[in-house]
Amino acid sequence: MDFIRDYADWFYLIGAVLFILTLRGLSGPKTAIAGNRYGMIAMAIAVLTTFFVAENPVVWMIVGAMVLGAIIGIARARTVPMTQMPETVALMHSLVGLAAVLIAVAAIIHNNELAKLDVGLLQENGVNFHEMGKVHLFELFVGCFVGAITFTASVFAYGKLAAKKWAKTISGAWVKPVQALIFITMFAAGIHFFLTGNMTSFWAMTGLALVFGWVWIAPVGGGDMPVVVSLLNSFSGWAAAGIGFTLENNMLIVAGSLVGSSGAILSYIMCKAMNRSIINVLFGGAMGGTAVVVDAGDKAPRNHRSGSADDAGFLMSNADSVVIVPGYGMAQGRAQNAVKELANLLKEQGVTVRFAIHPVAGRMPGHMNVLLAEADVPYEDILEMDEINSDFPATDVVLVIGANDVVNPAAKDDPSSPIYGMPILEAHKARTIMVIKRSMATGYAGLDNDLFYNDKTMMIFGDAKKVVEDMTKAINGNGH
Ligand code: NDP
Repeated sequence: MDFIRDYADWFYLIGAVLFILTLRGLSGPKTAIAGNRYGMIAMAIAVLTTFFVAENPVVWMIVGAMVLGAIIGIARARTVPMTQMPETVALMHSLVGLAAVLIAVAAIIHNNELAKLDVGLLQENGVNFHEMGKVHLFELFVGCFVGAITFTASVFAYGKLAAKKWAKTISGAWVKPVQALIFITMFAAGIHFFLTGNMTSFWAMTGLALVFGWVWIAPVGGGDMPVVVSLLNSFSGWAAAGIGFTLENNMLIVAGSLVGSSGAILSYIMCKAMNRSIINVLFGGAMGGTAVVVDAGDKAPRNHRSGSADDAGFLMSNADSVVIVPGYGMAQGRAQNAVKELANLLKEQGVTVRFAIHPVAGRMPGHMNVLLAEADVPYEDILEMDEINSDFPATDVVLVIGANDVVNPAAKDDPSSPIYGMPILEAHKARTIMVIKRSMATGYAGLDNDLFYNDKTMMIFGDAKKVVEDMTKAINGNGH
């Protein structure tokens, strides 16, 4: 075991490289499985190396906690339905935040004991405790308050996504001043602790950070929670990195920074794809899921054309090319397996079938990719927005399944639209458009969609899974 201790930094370096390869692997569906494996190996190296470099570890406690954590983690991973993934991720981030707080608290208490006992000894040995203590206190200060905010904010995000009664959105003119007051007091207590090492200030800072995490996220609308979860992911990484400095663990610093920066990049990508600013999401509480309501009262009723699954099946089986655009409704209706069967059947009939994925289709990043992968849709059939957009004009049929905002042409044509500027899948340019949804209701952004009233569009009303199954039956000839 001395070997591991002597070469600990090398093991950490290998772990860090593997973590970087993990992120690289996870950036594409074909390499995602390899990416996951790298991550598992890196984590095993990190845990084992840390275990062996620890001085006088309390083995039963560490192993006991790891076994317990593994049992809960495996059980949860096996049972969690895909639709509950966002809240599960939020709950996991809360644990990272809590761990950061607990480590900081343990280190502070330990440090204080040391300070009482060993100051003289340290000074005799030429160590300036107060100088050393300052850097240390700063790391703990950052790790602890970021961790505390991450903890309560993530618990709230979990509650909101899981539609728990206690996770109530708060609103009112008082919210922002109260947020500011708590933040300033928290920061002042933190600075006081940093300058003096005063424990009362430390506890005040930690308590206020816990309260702040809650009141900061509580005004954010339910629909914006995925961006918040991604941002909290970033925070949990920075908290872990801060604690890595405290524990002088290089692996934790590298892994924490990777999580911190990748979470921040993901939040940026999501905001860009939704044409929102992160400030607007976190402090505006503007769209709040359905807050942008279209006043249909002063608008003349508009006509749309609807058809049956049989008609649609007939049209698609006679097309050369079909592009399927899945959206939130496919996830909601759990239609992915039925969609894959339909795609396979069309392919057997010589139709070129591809899937077009918008970066924020559904309710979490990669939502559609995950569902299509679950249904074993070949990766080469799945194209990102930038890859497929230029192909729409030459496409015979676009089949939109439970998507709405991500194909709304107002984002391109109507400067007065709240989603103006958001990049969309240009389904309206195809020769024929078919839209499966249950009604003419709006999507997440609460906006009417011109695509549904387009002369080339046929609406097929019904639950996504049922309609797609009916289409398959129709093409098979059983539906008639
Ligand atoms: P939308 O929410 O715009 O539209 C989904 C449509 O699906 C609805 O209009 C609904 O219409 C229909 N639908 C719902 N259930 C069913 C069902 N069982 N069967 C058939 N249709 C159904 O979804 P999009 O995917 O187009 O867009 C995603 C939106 O979510 C964007 O505005 C994006 O900004 C936002 N968002 C995305 C995040 C992400 O990370 N992906 C995160 C946060 C927000 P009807 O009720 O008539 O059936």
